[in-house]
Amino acid sequence: MQYAGGTATIPILVHLDLKGAPPKISYLRQLLPLLSYHSVSGLLVEYEDTFPYQGDLSILAAKHAYTVDDLRLFIGDCAHFNIAVIPLVQTFGHIEFALKHEAFAHLRENENYPNSLCPSKPDSFTLISAMIEQIASFHNTSPAIHIGCDEVFQLGVCSDCKGRMGDRVWSKAQLFSAHVNRVAVHVKSVNPLLRVLIWDDMLRACDVVTLESSRLKETIEPMVWFYGAQGFPDIWSRYSAVFPTIWCASAFKGASGPTATIPDLSLRVANQQAWQAVIEDNATRVTSWGGFVLTGWSRYDHFGVLCELLPSALPSLVLCLTILNHGKFTPETHALASKEVGYPEGSLISVGELKVMPSVDLHRSVPAAAIWLNSIRQAILCNAFKKFIGSDLFCGWFHQRNIAEGRLSRGVVDQLLGQVEQLIEDFDKLIFESQCLLPDVFDSAICEEWMDTHCRTYLHKLRKISNKMEQVLQFVR
Ligand SMILES: [Zn+2]
Repeated sequence: MQYAGGTATIPILVHLDLKGAPPKISYLRQLLPLLSYHSVSGLLVEYEDTFPYQGDLSILAAKHAYTVDDLRLFIGDCAHFNIAVIPLVQTFGHIEFALKHEAFAHLRENENYPNSLCPSKPDSFTLISAMIEQIASFHNTSPAIHIGCDEVFQLGVCSDCKGRMGDRVWSKAQLFSAHVNRVAVHVKSVNPLLRVLIWDDMLRACDVVTLESSRLKETIEPMVWFYGAQGFPDIWSRYSAVFPTIWCASAFKGASGPTATIPDLSLRVANQQAWQAVIEDNATRVTSWGGFVLTGWSRYDHFGVLCELLPSALPSLVLCLTILNHGKFTPETHALASKEVGYPEGSLISVGELKVMPSVDLHRSVPAAAIWLNSIRQAILCNAFKKFIGSDLFCGWFHQRNIAEGRLSRGVVDQLLGQVEQLIEDFDKLIFESQCLLPDVFDSAICEEWMDTHCRTYLHKLRKISNKMEQVLQFVR
């Protein structure tokens, strides 16, 4: 189904970023009716280390990687709902999950950083080709494959690449496009029917002549990503002059800060609106929009902490999909999405800062929505912790200097200790609730990671403060 904004008719896709908190297959299967109801026609599946790589590549598969049987089941279900699965495999930048291994470390562009692959070493292409072959043969009914290629932070810095650029009088942009073209041609040799997509950011600084001479328009389709409300990259006249088809990518989660546990809905709504304006402005300029992808990032990169869990972002996804399907954000679309999530008639999902728990009747159509409420509780508690740590009372009366000198006000410390004990009790309850809810969707290691990152880190700090307060109170009279 289609996005009805402006004069465009664009297929809607949802991105599953499985490099962080990959849900159990049973949960992903439960999501399909919701996606189908909102006319989602495809999933962009970024496996990273969760694909069951085989043979020489088996080292790339994490302990929690999906099994072949699990994925077959899921892909079969997607087909039942007419939802295409487009796999995403990184082949240039953000390939930390492969280059962090000793076996592949020699393929780094910069030996100290595992982010970027060297496009000039012969073994690099051997690795990428093998990954593509396993992914493409597994997804033999997919209409397209996404080969990443975003944020290649290290490009043309190793001696091999510098030598190649010198010999051929290449710029970094030419080195980039040569690798992308080679990878795309390999994809076509594996399956000629596959369309090849890449993130667009490495092309943003290129002029039309560079883009034309790169021949990328013959091999790939760029996916323009933008997750903000304003400040769109000025690329449309150049891209539309070169590429017959352009894809769009907004975000429904994973763009509110690397430690966020719930999406900032005001920004997510503004992001969809910004895209709608761009699509309308370029309706006559862009020949064809390939698809509109709602990205949902789970970590900012392989080494980052977990940001929003998928169930914690379903209200955001419902709201964004409703906006896209109806062409704009209006009181009507806001009310429709709120009702679907479980808000009572006349009550709306908040698009401002969440300071209190919403009163909702959780719907089964939004699977594991209790995890969303649990994450709101975490966000409110986290804010309370930060407010306490930065409060005048704590900073002004419990400074390291005061403690060292024993110059403390008993009344103030008693008051502060009461606040700390309340926060400890609340975080303990949050951990207990999380232990009950998260295992329905995630395996135990992921549950532990989320609780360590977003609950216990605060709890440990609070216990340390509480112990110190109790210790000094023995000597304060
Ligand atoms: Zn290199």
